Amino acid sequence: MTRICKTICPQCRERQGVDIAYGMPGIELAEMAERGEAWLGGCCLTDDMPDRHCLACSHEWRIKRRQYPRTPPLLPEPTAG
Ligand SMILES: [Zn+2]
Repeated sequence: MTRICKTICPQCRERQGVDIAYGMPGIELAEMAERGEAWLGGCCLTDDMPDRHCLACSHEWRIKRRQYPRTPPLLPEPTAG
């Protein structure tokens, strides 16, 4: 049994944010979308795709995923003394 964790919408503060699923949905995903547990984003893939869709206000936004910085943060060398 899949547990659905809705996220809080940053715009309306309702806990109605669901995952946006891109591409061709399977049967399970289509049923989830009908139940309001997922949102189908369609097949159009762009570079700037949102990850969450708010069922309350239709706001879409991106969530922070694991981000790998290209360069590690450089800490200043501690000066001896
Ligand atoms: Zn909202």
